Amino acid sequence: MGARLVVIGGDAGGMTAAAQARRLDSDLEIVVLERGNWVSYSACGIPYLVGGEVESIHDLVARTPQELRDTYRIDVRLRHEAMAVDLDAREVEVRSHERDRTFRLGFDQLLIATGARPRRPDLPGIDGPTVMGVQTLDDASALLQRVRGAGAGRVVVVGGGYVGLEMAEAFVRRGSEVTVVESSPQVMSTLDHDMGVLVSTAMRRHGIEVRCGTRVEAFSEGIVHTDAGELPADLVILGLGVTPNSELAAEAGIGLGDGQAIRVDRRQATDTEGVWAAGDCCESFHLVTGRPFHIALGTVANKHGRVAGINLGGGYATFPGVVGTAVSKVCSTEVARTGLGEDEARAAGFGCVATTITATTRAGYYPGGGEIRVKMVAERGTGRLLGAQIVGEEGAAKRIDVVATAITRGMRVHELVDLDLSYAPPFSPLWDPVQIAARRSAAAVDG
Ligand SMILES: Cc1cc2nc3c(=O)[nH]c(=O)nc-3n(C[C@H](O)[C@H](O)[C@H](O)COP(=O)(O)OP(=O)(O)OC[C@H]3O[C@@H](n4cnc5c(N)ncnc54)[C@H](O)[C@@H]3O)c2cc1C
Repeated sequence: MGARLVVIGGDAGGMTAAAQARRLDSDLEIVVLERGNWVSYSACGIPYLVGGEVESIHDLVARTPQELRDTYRIDVRLRHEAMAVDLDAREVEVRSHERDRTFRLGFDQLLIATGARPRRPDLPGIDGPTVMGVQTLDDASALLQRVRGAGAGRVVVVGGGYVGLEMAEAFVRRGSEVTVVESSPQVMSTLDHDMGVLVSTAMRRHGIEVRCGTRVEAFSEGIVHTDAGELPADLVILGLGVTPNSELAAEAGIGLGDGQAIRVDRRQATDTEGVWAAGDCCESFHLVTGRPFHIALGTVANKHGRVAGINLGGGYATFPGVVGTAVSKVCSTEVARTGLGEDEARAAGFGCVATTITATTRAGYYPGGGEIRVKMVAERGTGRLLGAQIVGEEGAAKRIDVVATAITRGMRVHELVDLDLSYAPPFSPLWDPVQIAARRSAAAVDG
């Protein structure tokens, strides 16, 4: 048996790394500790499980523990929680919830992939049984049990970020009356205000009550108390963003960075020899601002995991960084963003030019198209593309990937205008909306 790699956390970051390390090093002993009942699952699919598009919770599992044992020879231990890391002894203190015992497990290399947890502000009643966050499949299973048992006629979603939006849609699909409460003036605070307004408007059109500029103050049996009155609720879903699960690392003396996420270098190594981190629990690097940046996304967690796994398996890989690309949808309305918004660009010290266009997702005469709004942010003077945001109907959101690619390559909006993008009437107008936006942006940059 070779050296031992212990992985804490058995989802996107941890399992990707474990499988990748195995591909490169067949001698490595790999132990994965997972405190929950599931590994290698898609948390991203939870809203669609709750909404009924996905039939079974098992459909969200990519590989079962048995498959991981058989195919990758990974020792997967469910209901095993890492309680502490002793860096001097190079041991993890592990609690087996099943056997109700604690033991110590030595490691040569350690990967921390503990993810993040939904934020729970310290409000009266927040720990009540009807106030639920969703992050893991265990959370999803508990939520479905509650909905099937006690019902969910009236649902209040606290927080209008993308998880809030997706969970609002899920309960609309289940026939619930849904209210989203958001303290900011608009939902989707990762968008600029003018684009967030479009999302709030679309949600109301889809039958969701949206209360912006409203603060939740407390929860009691069947009621959400806000600064603008009481809302009846059989169920409350928290969508207030996440906090990295970095306490285990911090208590061991491992350094933290942006948003209390574990600080890592480009190879996903922490500041402690032989200890690595991947996924929502650790930082990334923002390619536009040039600064460390915490972003909790499955796409990023998988890529961190791949890089960490290559390094743990004896190879060499670096994570190049992110531009903050994300897509989501609420009913038929799609939302996307990449790079910096107008406000973020200014806050990061850029002089910028922001322009917005309205177009259609297909050729105007072709049936089934819808409206698409594209906002583009470019650097004043140089025309360097800094960011874009899209709100529109079906087919709108994935266009953001072209812009994300352009930002990553440091392109100017003028160069985006010239790209040889595809066209046929069922897919886009002759000029794709992102190129229409780039033309407008280039004109504004040129004055
Ligand atoms: C509802 C929802 C929708 C989402 N939709 C999208 C999407 O569309 N696109 C996208 O890119 N991202 C999406 N995400 C985010 C994505 O799911 C996460 O970024 C991703 O799961 C992070 O993977 P991870 O491995 O870092 O953490 P997690 O998936 O949170 O896994 C961490 C694991 O570690 C375990 N763990 C924690 N502490 C310990 C410990 N001490 N001992 C043992 N085990 C421990 C946890 O039980 C958990 O299973 C969504 C998330 C949610 C909740």
